[in-house]
Amino acid sequence: MHGKPGRWAWKGVFAVHRRSEGALSSCTGRIYQYTYRLYAPEDSRYERCVGMSWCSVCREASENLVFVSRDTTLADALADLPASERERIGQNSRKIRECLDRLVRRGLWP
Ligand SMILES: [Zn+2]
Repeated sequence: MHGKPGRWAWKGVFAVHRRSEGALSSCTGRIYQYTYRLYAPEDSRYERCVGMSWCSVCREASENLVFVSRDTTLADALADLPASERERIGQNSRKIRECLDRLVRRGLWP
């Protein structure tokens, strides 16, 4: 999470827009969320997923381990990408977030 400082650097936080003492940041940007699976269905860890949230405006981002039951179908936001691009992104959460944020900025996020 230590990119070059600057406008496009992400800042890893515990929870986007939340400050300690329960205060909120002054940013009014929308918080986007995405959850994806790390493991194949036959894996006993299948329900362990990554939940990420981020704000495109202040570039705060958070990531947590979340549990999603087997019978829940998660939308694959990367499904429309070419196979080569999907392969490049893989399960790298930083790359996934950058890719999703590009969709947000192009107005393509649902
Ligand atoms: Zn923000």
